[in-house]
Amino acid sequence: MRLCRFEHGGRISIGVWEGERVLVCRGDMLGGFERTSATLSADKVCLLAPLVPGKIIGIGRNYADHARELGNVPPEAEPLIFLKPSSSIIASGDRILLPPSSQRVDHEGELGVVIGRMGRSIGEDEDPLRYVFGYSCVNDVTARDLQKKDVQFTRAKGFDTFCPFGPWIETELEPSHLGIQTRVNGRIRQSGNTGDMLFPVARLVRFLSGIMTLYPGDLIATGTPAGVGPLADGDLVEVEIEGIGILKNPVIGSYRKSI
Ligand code: MG
Repeated sequence: MRLCRFEHGGRISIGVWEGERVLVCRGDMLGGFERTSATLSADKVCLLAPLVPGKIIGIGRNYADHARELGNVPPEAEPLIFLKPSSSIIASGDRILLPPSSQRVDHEGELGVVIGRMGRSIGEDEDPLRYVFGYSCVNDVTARDLQKKDVQFTRAKGFDTFCPFGPWIETELEPSHLGIQTRVNGRIRQSGNTGDMLFPVARLVRFLSGIMTLYPGDLIATGTPAGVGPLADGDLVEVEIEGIGILKNPVIGSYRKSI
């Protein structure tokens, strides 16, 4: 099931995305909802980010080919993690704003994992995927020059608009072997498969739950394959994941911010 959040007629609602139409639901996406009798034409709704996460946990260097392209050694024993602020979230279709303080902003197409149940110190005898609500596309937009300058990642990955997320959450998906592609203006920049993750989704969820309690609505950006590259004013960047859909965002230079 593809669950979306949208605005229509001045109201924000959740619904089931069925391609040409949206089945309108009432209730809370994570806490329980039911379908109403209402349906809307998909081209009449404005999609919003599926939810605003409590926290966004990023995974660094989770694909060996990407770690190497930036001159880093792939981690062996445990994942490298960081946090992105929830204020960086935007929806599919929203604009990525290039900040004037960076000369190099990169796309990073990633599988997003949305948590559905509170999880703390998930044991080896438990299946971590039971804590997952669903999957979506994420673009972990990164100011590469500031990441190198600052050493740690907070500023480089924390600008407003630096976390495109959507277009919806797919709740029925097996995440271990999904094609993942990032295109800029229609040209393929990144083409990978989630099967190449150094630390697969289940391992990430268990590992993270031993550090910080995972709450419903938390989002994990699971790392990016090789091929990261710069974004420029006027670009259209797309992240497509097999079985989910396409997250599309135009890119706007800082000098056009007021448009
Ligand atoms: Mg990333």
